[in-house]
Amino acid sequence: MTTLGTASAAPGEMDTGRLEVGEARDGTTVALPCAVINGAFDGQTLYMQAASDGDELNGVGVVSRVVPQLDPTELSGTVLVVGIVNYHAFQVAEHRNPIDDTKMNRAYPGDDNGTSSERIAAATFDAATRADIILDLHQGSTSRMIDEVRVRCGRRHRLHDECLQLAKTFGCGYVLDQKGPEGQLARAGPDEGIPTIDPELGGCVGWDEESIQAGVDGVFNVLREYGFLSGSASPERQTRAKGFDQYGSPAGGLVRFEADLSERVGAGDLLFEITDPFGELKARVTANNSGVFWRTRRLPQVATGEYVCSVGTNVDTY
Ligand SMILES: [Zn+2]
Repeated sequence: MTTLGTASAAPGEMDTGRLEVGEARDGTTVALPCAVINGAFDGQTLYMQAASDGDELNGVGVVSRVVPQLDPTELSGTVLVVGIVNYHAFQVAEHRNPIDDTKMNRAYPGDDNGTSSERIAAATFDAATRADIILDLHQGSTSRMIDEVRVRCGRRHRLHDECLQLAKTFGCGYVLDQKGPEGQLARAGPDEGIPTIDPELGGCVGWDEESIQAGVDGVFNVLREYGFLSGSASPERQTRAKGFDQYGSPAGGLVRFEADLSERVGAGDLLFEITDPFGELKARVTANNSGVFWRTRRLPQVATGEYVCSVGTNVDTY
């Protein structure tokens, strides 16, 4: 039997259940929805989680589409899933856990005796570190963003090559290969010797069906390429950015973008203009470096200094 929380499955079976992580303010048990798909044949273990950031719902869309398609009688190895990690943030459709105002993906590997987020991180990290591969499904929050996969361990990490190969197998087309901030699962996993990626499935309010489909395809690519399912994924070349330039607004007003997401931009190319409400030009912002137009704010109105867009830089293919 393989067990995760109250989910328990013998070889060739699957089960869903709940992984307890404490109590809510009214004393109700807080338990994350989880699943065990225990393959009929021996193989590796894959751990997958979604909604570590509570407003990033595309990953929940991926899980809810992938799990019903997994047949444990055809699977080699085991798939462990936590479908909604940031329980409290998910309830109120916010990014951060409102109990401790913390971003979950800065709390790994967590602490059993810590804050609300640290305890949830610890419980899910315990599950994740039972696996040989970790997929932490994210998105560019509610900003507009391309579908990409992040390798966060840093290019000098001993598991960098394995993480980069996993990102290529997932196959969104774009990879951000840049060491992430402390507390990310995609850093804590490789530190435990487990290849980990952070697929960033677009960016939207609610669900984006194209990005969800990219995530579903990515999970199945990994399941095939790593021997959980028959067939191979034949990974394709990925466009990789090793840096990330962020642009803020030099003035208050309304943003008009001159570049489209995933478009190549050259140094000096116009990225966006700021106008006043009557269309009068206030500022023009050009790219400092060449790269791929990667992410933008969703709302057109900006204050001076407010985030506008990002360009992935130092681009190559692999
Ligand atoms: Zn996220």
